[in-house]
Amino acid sequence: MSNATPITIAIDGYSSTGKSTIARSLAQHFGYVYIDTGAMYRAVSLYFLRNNIDLHDEKAVGEALEEITLEFKIIDGQQIIHLNEEAVEKYIRDQKINSVVSPVAKISAVRRQMVAQQRAMSKGKSVVMDGRDIGTVVFPDADLKFFMTSDIDVRVKRRFDELESKGVETTLREVEKNLLERDRIDSTRADSPLKQAEDAMMIDNTKLTREEQVEIMISMVEKYNK
Ligand code: C5P
Repeated sequence: MSNATPITIAIDGYSSTGKSTIARSLAQHFGYVYIDTGAMYRAVSLYFLRNNIDLHDEKAVGEALEEITLEFKIIDGQQIIHLNEEAVEKYIRDQKINSVVSPVAKISAVRRQMVAQQRAMSKGKSVVMDGRDIGTVVFPDADLKFFMTSDIDVRVKRRFDELESKGVETTLREVEKNLLERDRIDSTRADSPLKQAEDAMMIDNTKLTREEQVEIMISMVEKYNK
C-alpha cells in the first residue's frame, strides 16, 4: 500500500532499543522506504578507520568526506548501504565500528553531510527513518514521531544475543559498556544531541514483544492516515 501524499515517520531512541527492526517492519507493512541512518554514520566510520583519518584534524575530515559516496541499494528486497559502490553491511556492525561511531557522529561536518543526504533521499517519498536526531533535526515537521526506550538490561541482552548469533565473541559486561558509552556521547554532544522531540510519542518496549510493538505502531500510523 502506498500513499498519494508522502508521509514521514521519524523513529529516534537509545542504542539497541530495536528501532531498526521496528522501522523496517513498519516500512514493509505500508510499502514505505526504510532509511537506516545509523548505517550511514557506521559506513563513514569504516571509511575513516580504513584511511586512518584523525578525527581531530578538521581538514583531513573535510577532505575524507569529499571522497565518500553513500547509497542504499535494494538487494533481495533489503536496503543495503554502499560506501563508494562497495556493499559494506558486513563490516559496519562489529565492535571496532561500535567504539568509533559515536565520536565520528559528534563531528558537525559529518552530521551536515549526512543530514543533507537523508533529506535528499527522502524527497517525494513516504519514509520511515530511524536514528538519533530524525524528529529533532532531520525532519522536525515529520508526520509521526516515535522515541523508543527500554531498560538497559533488556537492551544489553538483545544486543548480546544478536552478536552471539553472528558468531561475535563478547560478554554482557562489554556490550553494556559500549551501549552506555554510545548513549552518553550521543546524548551530550553539542551538535544534534539525542533527545526526545517534544511532539514525539515515547514507546517503552521493555515488556513488549516485537510483534506487540509493531502492532501498536501500525495502528498509530493507520489512525494518522485516516
Ligand atoms: O542506530 P545505530 O546504533 O546503528 O547508530 C550508530 C551510531 O551512529 C549511534 O550510536 C550514533 O552515534 C550515530 N547516529 C547519529 N545520528 C543518527 C543515527 C546514528 O548520531 N541519526
